Amino acid sequence: MKIILIGMQGSGKGTYAKLLNEIYHLEHISIGDILRNEVNKKSKIGLQIDEILKKGELVDDKIILDLLENKLKNNFVLDGFPRTIKQARELEKITKIDKVFYITLKDETAIKRLTTRIQCEKCGAIYGNRKKPLNDNICDICGSKLIKRPDDNEESIKKRLEIFHKETKPLIDFYIKKKILIKIVGEKTIDKVFSKIEEYLNK
Ligand code: AMP
Repeated sequence: MKIILIGMQGSGKGTYAKLLNEIYHLEHISIGDILRNEVNKKSKIGLQIDEILKKGELVDDKIILDLLENKLKNNFVLDGFPRTIKQARELEKITKIDKVFYITLKDETAIKRLTTRIQCEKCGAIYGNRKKPLNDNICDICGSKLIKRPDDNEESIKKRLEIFHKETKPLIDFYIKKKILIKIVGEKTIDKVFSKIEEYLNK
């Protein structure tokens, strides 16, 4: 099964994609993680995208598509792509999507979650006000350090939410028309949201 998760920053896409990977063995493809990995490697593209990520702007489509090349063959859950209608049209040329989950969230909840979000620098596990680590700043899963993402600052959060409303929200209608969109209320506990996703996954 090929799945897309759409949702405002902080809606939990990464968390649910990780669970879908663990339980249903869908490959978790997070374009944000792929981009951050390039930044950490200090590759040529990494240096170019570092500034864009910090500002919360969208990275150029050509770079995104190059990084995703050959990664969309097996069953997957896509987290963070597509983010625009143009990207959705590009994706259509590459593969057929079975289901799109749109995880809804209010702006104020997103801001609250993003300002408290911390992530494992090694395995990428995400913690925040819905899920606190057992020991402060240490990952429950791999014991590595938990860090704040450099783009989870007030200015960048504002910009990213603006882009979500303007560029990403039109995807909702795009996928409604294709009859593959499922709307899930994201203002609940991780367990509750995930069991809703599972309910529709098995339909
Ligand atoms: P995320 O981890 O999904 O929140 O993404 C982090 C950042 O990576 C975003 O704020 C953008 O700068 C960039 N990014 C992620 N996905 C895309 C995309 N589909 N198109 C362009 N830029 C993206």
